[in-house]
Amino acid sequence: MSEVTTERVRCAACRFACPDESASSKIWTAFQCGNDKSEYHRCLLNITPNGDKQSRITWTGCELGERRRCL
Ligand code: SF4
Repeated sequence: MSEVTTERVRCAACRFACPDESASSKIWTAFQCGNDKSEYHRCLLNITPNGDKQSRITWTGCELGERRRCL
């Protein structure tokens, strides 16, 4: 059975969201999109358009996101 769905995955639940150590600081961990097929590849996912750093991933996601599996 196919698992293909039209549901859009938010970055916070996407397996491609990963820490970006080079953009992080001692008190803040930056997350970036690691999907090289996405138009948002390498974009930071927990920063606002104004440049405000956020603790949670707030980017809404893209159509190429894939839900992280729970183990
Ligand atoms: S931009 Fe798309 S591929 Fe990248 S982390 Fe978000 S949902 Fe996943």
